[in-house]
Amino acid sequence: MTCDNLQTIEKNIALAAERCGRSADSVQLVAVSKRKDLEVIQQAISCGQQVFGENYLQEAEQKITALKNKKLCWHFIGHLQSNKARIAAELFDVIETVDRIKIARALDRHAVALDKDLRVFVQVNIGRENQKHGVLPEDAEELLVLINRETQLKVLGLMGMPPYSNDPEDARRYFRELKQLSDRLAGKKVFADNTDVQLSMGMSADYMVAIEEGATLVRVGTALFGRRA
Ligand SMILES: *Cc1c(COP(=O)(O)O)cnc(C)c1O
Repeated sequence: MTCDNLQTIEKNIALAAERCGRSADSVQLVAVSKRKDLEVIQQAISCGQQVFGENYLQEAEQKITALKNKKLCWHFIGHLQSNKARIAAELFDVIETVDRIKIARALDRHAVALDKDLRVFVQVNIGRENQKHGVLPEDAEELLVLINRETQLKVLGLMGMPPYSNDPEDARRYFRELKQLSDRLAGKKVFADNTDVQLSMGMSADYMVAIEEGATLVRVGTALFGRRA
């Protein structure tokens, strides 16, 4: 990767944000470094990137440990099993993939033991796909109420992934639905900050569409680091 890639993406983020009357800094870039070497991450850090996303705990542990003297923010964006909640709560600042009360309870237990303010997103299965994780849109409110009642986790907002498509425009309606869901749920006061609800949506192929529909975080891997092996 080169600093040029990062600058191009940041410019695209700013343009997409400005197209809909938002400021460039209302959108955060999460650099998805899964299956990329430490050197590649170090290069991105030297270009100024500080927020990274990882999917696999073992792989992430090595990288996060090696870079622990840097001021970085790590987002977990993979599927999480409850028996891995302790290591996830230890390593990561933000867990984007909470989709059931069991995992929320497990993360909370370990965060409390670590005296850590763990921030999370609730992952919503916006395309209702069998192969994808995430709570169904109609069940999100109930899950959020339970998380707030039973845990001290700080729920920043919602995360979602639209069904795969070659055309980024196909994702627009799913992004819009996730935004509408987050607006409705903010009205029910289920988030840590209901006036500033975060929406993690959009990847390499469709992050500009996601920003136009209200994304505050985009998770970009391939466009930044090149294809994964
Ligand atoms: C891999 C991954 C990304 C990044 O995908 P790219 O298409 O490489 O940008 C984003 N979000 C999640 C949840 C991922 O697993």
